[in-house]
Formats: sequence, structure tokens, C-alpha cells
Amino acid sequence: MEDKTFCVHHPDVSHEGFASLTVPTYRASTIVFKDAQAYATRGQRGPDGYSYGLHGTPTTKTLEAQLNQLHRGAASVLLPSGQCAIAVTMLTALKPGDWVLVPETAYPPVLGFCRNFLAPLGISHTVYDPLVGAGIADLMSETVKLVWLESPGSTTMEVQDFAAIAAVAHDHGALVGCDNTYASPLLFKPLDHGADFAMEALTKWFSGHSDLLLGSVTVRDPELRLRLRDQMRMMGLGVSPDEAALVLRGMQTMAVRLSHSATIAERFARKMEPLFPAGSILHPALPSCPGHAFFKRDFAGPAGLFSVVLPEHSLPRLDAALDGLQVFRIGASWGGTSSLMAPMSVKGQRRLGATFDDTIILRLSIGMEDPDDLWADIERLTNTLQPMSEALQTVPE
Ligand SMILES: *Cc1c(COP(=O)(O)O)cnc(C)c1O
Repeated sequence: MEDKTFCVHHPDVSHEGFASLTVPTYRASTIVFKDAQAYATRGQRGPDGYSYGLHGTPTTKTLEAQLNQLHRGAASVLLPSGQCAIAVTMLTALKPGDWVLVPETAYPPVLGFCRNFLAPLGISHTVYDPLVGAGIADLMSETVKLVWLESPGSTTMEVQDFAAIAAVAHDHGALVGCDNTYASPLLFKPLDHGADFAMEALTKWFSGHSDLLLGSVTVRDPELRLRLRDQMRMMGLGVSPDEAALVLRGMQTMAVRLSHSATIAERFARKMEPLFPAGSILHPALPSCPGHAFFKRDFAGPAGLFSVVLPEHSLPRLDAALDGLQVFRIGASWGGTSSLMAPMSVKGQRRLGATFDDTIILRLSIGMEDPDDLWADIERLTNTLQPMSEALQTVPE
């Protein structure tokens, strides 16, 4: 053979004796077959076989298998982002004429997807109170085919009565999907509590370093896996093995990172409680958090983020307070090594009868910096935001 061919075909190199601890990054579009017969029968390889890079490589399948173990599920699929994992789950569970129930406290782009993407397809949605519990029965009908949960709620941290909601949904023949990004399977395993789809934004705790986007959905029912895979094949959705390899690396330290973030976040939440009006610190481990009893019942512990409802009188000083931060960075998301603060508006969202209208909620995500440096930053923030005397005057009787 000639040089041009040697440039294209590499010799086989022995893997004998090469036992690395890392999962290799296998890149591929084309998969080659050992003979004509193998090619002709490639359609019989099933969802576990290799047929084309888009549908999986040993790298992505290793991550899927690891997710199956953590979630005690039968199968997982990987999607390019958490939001994409939510979209694909909904498109798998719903067809025109169907209805989905979404908690008011869901990750906001979910409601955007329902309004702007599902509604024009003839798929309707109803927004429900996350604390509804078994009362979700009032919203059920024959056309409701999916009940979505996110617990604790994005930013506002309400904890849902998962088992009660899932039981009612199943009684009415609906599937149950859960955005488990706050907890990760280390703190809560949705499939054990009645979910059919356990969705994760691997972008957060799993990857752990704010440098990639990836989502996953884990199911127990092999039939749902096939439906997810069909949906993904139609839309040409797959993920890069590089992203999967980074998650495989990041998740090796997830338990330690999550535990550290959680410890510091809870300590800070408790220290901040007396500095703000009653009920201003939103953290599921605090008894004042709506659904706290369900948190204690269902979760192995809290994650490393919490929120602060800012007193209205402090809002004019918010920008100055954020600009004065020296360690926290200003930004959304969580689960990376950098601590973040993100001012969030939850305008119109109801909570225990009150409506968050002109309020800003500040969400804090704790990273890996020195806790004393972080606390000094929080003191700088609270001092600018609300001098102590003013804060005390606003505490309701
Ligand atoms: C970040 C996040 C998502 C979306 O994940 P991306 O990978 O950023 O698309 C979904 N749900 C929750 C609760 C999140 O925090």
C-alpha cells in the first residue's frame, strides 16, 4: 500500500496492559462493521448497540450507565443541555391535544417552552401551586398526560409532596417527570418516589466547573427509553463525547463538592436569618421553608444554594451592594467552584397567599473558596443593603 493510504488507515495498536483509570474519549460519526453481514443486520443491534456516533459511543454510554446506577434506573439518555432534556421529555410524553401540569416555581425557561413551543403544537399547560399536594387531583383530567415537578422550586425553594402528587398523576394515567437539578441523585432519587422521568442538568453539580452544558433523563421503563431515543433520532440530537468525558471527570468529586457547598450554605443561611425580616431566607432545611416537612422526609440533605428575599427598602442599594462583592461573582447557575450571586425577579409568583411583585430574590450558590472570605463578602453585602437598625425596624410584629 502507498503513503496516501497509510495517512488514512492507522495500524491497530495493542491495548494490552493499558489499564487507565479514566474513561477514554471515543470520538465518532461513522461506525464501521467487520463484514457485510454485520452491516446488513445493524438495525438489529438495538438501543445498546453502536450504529452511528450520534446515537452513542463507549464514552457516552459509560456516563449513561453511571447515571442509571445513581438513579436506580434502567436507562438514561444524554442531551445537549438541561433545558433540552426537559424539552425532549415533554415532547416524548405529549402529543397534540394533551395537557401538562407545571409548577409555578419551575425553572423559568420551562414555562417559556410550554407557552412558545408546546402551545402552538396544540399541547396545553396549566401552572400549579407547588404546594398543592394531593390537591393536584382537581387539575387532573383525561387529557393530562404529564405532571412535571421541580423540588425544591427554582429560586424560591418550596418542597413538593412528591409521592402524593405522583400517586394522583398515576391514578389518572399521567406520567410524572422531575427536574432534579437542585438535589442530584445524591440527595434525592425521583424514580424511588414515583417519577417516570428523572431529569438532571449535568451542567450543575455533576460537571462542577462551569465549563460545559449537558442534560440527562433517566427512566425505569425500557419503553420510555425507546420513546426518548426515537424523539432524539428524529431531531438529530446527540452529545459530544468530550462533554461526557468532562462530566465523567467532574462527577468523581461531586459528593465531596456538594457536601462542602451544602455545609457552608446552610451555615450562612442560618447566620443570615437574624439579619433579615422573618421568612426572608429561603433554604429547605429551615423550618420556615414551605414544604420543610417533605424535605426532611424525602431528602438526604440540602444542596449548596439558598435565596434571600430582599426587603423592598433595600432595593435601591442592591446594585451598589453587588458591585462591592470581592469573592462572589455575579451570575446565574450553580454547582461550579466559584460562588455566585444572582438577583432574580419572580414577579407574579404566588407564595403562601402573598405575591412576589416588586421584590428581588437574591440566590446564592456556594463554591470552593475559603468560607471566611465568603462570609466577609456577605457582611459587605448586607451592610450596604440594609444597615442593621433599618432591618430591625422592618421586622413585622
Ligand atoms: C440550569 C438548570 C436547568 C437547565 O440546564 P442547562 O444545562 O443550563 O440548560 C434546568 N433546570 C434547573 C433547575 C436548572 O438549574
